[in-house]
Amino acid sequence: MKIKVLGTGNAFNQGARLNSAFLIGMKNVNVLIDCGFTVPLALQKECIQFSSIDYILITHYHGDHYAGLASLLLGLKYVSPQYKKLTIIGPGDIQEKVIRLFEVLYPGTENLINDLNLEFKAVNHLGEKLMTKHFNLEIHPMQHSDLALPVGYILEKNRFKIGFSGDTSWHDGLSSFIESCDKLILECNFVHRVGEGHISIEELELSALIQDKKKHIYLTHLHNESANKANELGYNFLSDGEELSFKV
Ligand SMILES: [Zn+2]
Repeated sequence: MKIKVLGTGNAFNQGARLNSAFLIGMKNVNVLIDCGFTVPLALQKECIQFSSIDYILITHYHGDHYAGLASLLLGLKYVSPQYKKLTIIGPGDIQEKVIRLFEVLYPGTENLINDLNLEFKAVNHLGEKLMTKHFNLEIHPMQHSDLALPVGYILEKNRFKIGFSGDTSWHDGLSSFIESCDKLILECNFVHRVGEGHISIEELELSALIQDKKKHIYLTHLHNESANKANELGYNFLSDGEELSFKV
């Protein structure tokens, strides 16, 4: 399994980091985790065709995690013509959320989704399991803005489990989520505890579980301050454009 890091930044692209997003490449299948504003740009910088993506998983409905879907889907018609089905998975009514996005960003193009070969799969933001043809998925509730329906995903392939937290503050439900993962891409927006919305390095330092699994955890949703602190304390922290490789 290869993971191309398309972005590691926050909603403001602080430190000139692109929005946090990842493309998982497995045998015959490409899975995009989140599709913020900058993802169409990041894919093109990496010479990755939009049409090569088989699945898109959205962790929550904030612009830096899903607003790029509109231009990516338009691109499947006009730039990188679609030749295979794309399945879009997200919490709550994902199809309705995508239609709303078109209404706001490119009014009059909402019917485009009928022209493309798309499948929308709504998942329960309070947690569930989903089996696809290519991998299994666990959906874990996260704590961020409630209206954004935040979830974390654990993708399982051949018993190897990789987790993506999306955006979340530190909360009790994280223990079972973190324990379940062989590898984990975890958001860590802040250095000091803010309490709501995002995790801080201060909270990671206080968690025995995190310290125990430290070498298997990769931090994202960073800016210069949090990346520098992560570096100083010996955490794996990601940079835009890097690639991870795991034996599956
Ligand atoms: Zn968010």
